[in-house]
Amino acid sequence: MKNIDTEKIEQCIHDLLLALGDDPSREGLLETPKRVAQMYAEVFEGMTYTNAEIAEKFGTVFEQEDYIKANDKNLIVVKDIPVFSYCEHHLALMYNMRVSVVYRPVDKIIGLSKISRIADMVSRRLQLQERIAHDIAEVMAMVTGTQDIGVWIQGEHSCMSARGIKKVSAPTVTTYFDGIFKTDDALRQEALLLMR
Ligand SMILES: [Zn+2]
Repeated sequence: MKNIDTEKIEQCIHDLLLALGDDPSREGLLETPKRVAQMYAEVFEGMTYTNAEIAEKFGTVFEQEDYIKANDKNLIVVKDIPVFSYCEHHLALMYNMRVSVVYRPVDKIIGLSKISRIADMVSRRLQLQERIAHDIAEVMAMVTGTQDIGVWIQGEHSCMSARGIKKVSAPTVTTYFDGIFKTDDALRQEALLLMR
């Protein structure tokens, strides 16, 4: 586990305010460096853990029940997990994000609330929407012991909506499929249907 250097962030935000031509000593900005540092420690908490450490942290699993062994194409889906993140290209907020995760249990079943915790934690990093999906799948694979995982993400990026081309209502959708979903078209279609 790594630490976030909040003192350094405070200093940087102080300098940023100066660079913007503002006065860090005026009343409204006095506490801003400290507040931003505390906020960053929270919204970037996922940067203090590796994917393996997140897998360990939220890795509560249950031995597979008999009813699932009976049908090897049963799917488990957790749908529309709300997350937020920051794009690594602009340090801009990615918002209105919804994550759906599907997997096909083989040996172990992960606690459903843990899937939400994993999605939330890997999003608390400087990210790309595509990599959030990859990170979720990687952690899920470590925990469940199966590669049969799919992730669907929709999100809006303030670096698009607040600047540049200003396509305000243009959400970005990304999908990520691994394992059996890469080869079994019917199962992938079913997974997509369940995630949407
Ligand atoms: Zn961006």
